[in-house]
Amino acid sequence: MPWTERQAALLQGMGLRLWSPPLAPVSPPAAASPAAAPVAVAAVPLPASAPALAAAADIGAAAGALDWPALRRAVAGCRACGLCEGRTQTVFGVGHPRAHWLLVGEAPGEQEDLQGVPFVGAAGQLLDRMLAALGLTRAEDGPQPPERRVYIANALKCRPPRNRNPTAEEMASCAPHLQRQIELLQPRLILALGRFAVQALLHSDEAIGKLRGRVHRHRGVPLIVSYHPAYLLRSPLEKAKAWEDLCLAAGVAAEGAAP
Ligand code: URA
Repeated sequence: MPWTERQAALLQGMGLRLWSPPLAPVSPPAAASPAAAPVAVAAVPLPASAPALAAAADIGAAAGALDWPALRRAVAGCRACGLCEGRTQTVFGVGHPRAHWLLVGEAPGEQEDLQGVPFVGAAGQLLDRMLAALGLTRAEDGPQPPERRVYIANALKCRPPRNRNPTAEEMASCAPHLQRQIELLQPRLILALGRFAVQALLHSDEAIGKLRGRVHRHRGVPLIVSYHPAYLLRSPLEKAKAWEDLCLAAGVAAEGAAP
């Protein structure tokens, strides 16, 4: 995607590097550069209770056979954890079902709970602006090819009260829903936004700052770690790093799309 003069001026004004798609097919990530090599992340078991894990296994077994509409219905009716008591509605996900990119956040906030759509509050608006700068869209219709589309989902489909952190039990209960979304979408690239997305996908408790800047894998799918947009709103100086992460993700996605 060529940069418009306005986009280039905006990003350079922020001190951010411009990203352009490679002109020719490039080597797979492992050979591209040491920095982009996939790494194994030590699995850190989350301290979910045995009953929560057993319940999650049941949900996983049931979700594993569902198509998109059935999965959406299952999530809408889910009562596997206490978050169902406080929700206005579940927040399933948004985007085209053939999108090449999957973005995973933490959990719905107030606006998302009210509207039933992920990342519609201030953090979501920042995210949309960053995606637009790369020519990416969460729109479900329109002319964009799959490589320009993102699907956005959260680790949790229900809002925790007063936006508190998710518990290990809630994460375990909801994990099968996200996993089935990944199986149905078959993304070429996953972007994990923030600590709880990382826990859900990499089972790692490492700091985002330690995990970002390289290519991880979730069940074989390249995964890039970045800061949560809400954190970027609180720490605007970190936006440059998040932009670098998006550029890395765009490079990996372009490599995956090369013939
Ligand atoms: N934060 C998230 O992680 N997800 C949302 O959908 C909104 C805010």
